[in-house]
Amino acid sequence: MLRPTLPLSNKLRFGSILSNNRMMANQVQENNSSINGVIQNNKDWALEMQVKNPEFFVELAKGQSPKLLWVGCSDSRMAVDVMTQTNPGDIFIHRNIANRVPSEDLNVLSVIEYAVKHLKVEHVIIAGHTGCGGIKAAMSNDSVGILDHWLRPVKDLYLANQEEIDCLPKADRVDRLGELNVIQGVSTISKLPVVHDAWNEGRELYIHGWMLQLNTGLLKDLDISVTGPKQVPSIFKLNAAEH
Ligand SMILES: [Zn+2]
Repeated sequence: MLRPTLPLSNKLRFGSILSNNRMMANQVQENNSSINGVIQNNKDWALEMQVKNPEFFVELAKGQSPKLLWVGCSDSRMAVDVMTQTNPGDIFIHRNIANRVPSEDLNVLSVIEYAVKHLKVEHVIIAGHTGCGGIKAAMSNDSVGILDHWLRPVKDLYLANQEEIDCLPKADRVDRLGELNVIQGVSTISKLPVVHDAWNEGRELYIHGWMLQLNTGLLKDLDISVTGPKQVPSIFKLNAAEH
């Protein structure tokens, strides 16, 4: 299977935006816990960026041409820019609880369509993470309000794979369902008309499934990348010259 290298651009360590000076670090930590502190951190960051590169915001304001679309969980620990050491403008992002990709959800479909059709991203990444609260909730009998509706398809996914999941040690079950949820998301995206339009135009478009391991901070490639229409069942191929 083709495993393209992701074109991450010049690295920028957001963690080093402020000085390594311990007093400064303590101040940031304090700032992070208050709403005014967030604004102050932002001012510090913008100033630091301008000092490093006076043209940075001039260029940023001109527009975006990201090569990556990230569809991930809303979990606050999934800090995409920080953990991938990417710059503003590098990744187009959609996040929702449990990184779901419902094929009838206008929000996620709009993001995917804009990213694929107009921004012409080359990679779409569905990213789940270990210990996902949404996946945990879907595996429980406790009601979580309106989320019961949002997570209902994850319950169905659990039921469809219950035999495999329930054989695993209890500690691994949530993460396995999380992986299956990512696999389902990759499958759904690979069947979308806008994706097939891009492939029919001869464009390169890769769809990947990853899991963030929160206990190490590392992204695990589930090795399920879809790289073209040949990996998609024939019935989903639209307007293709050849099936
Ligand atoms: Zn989550």
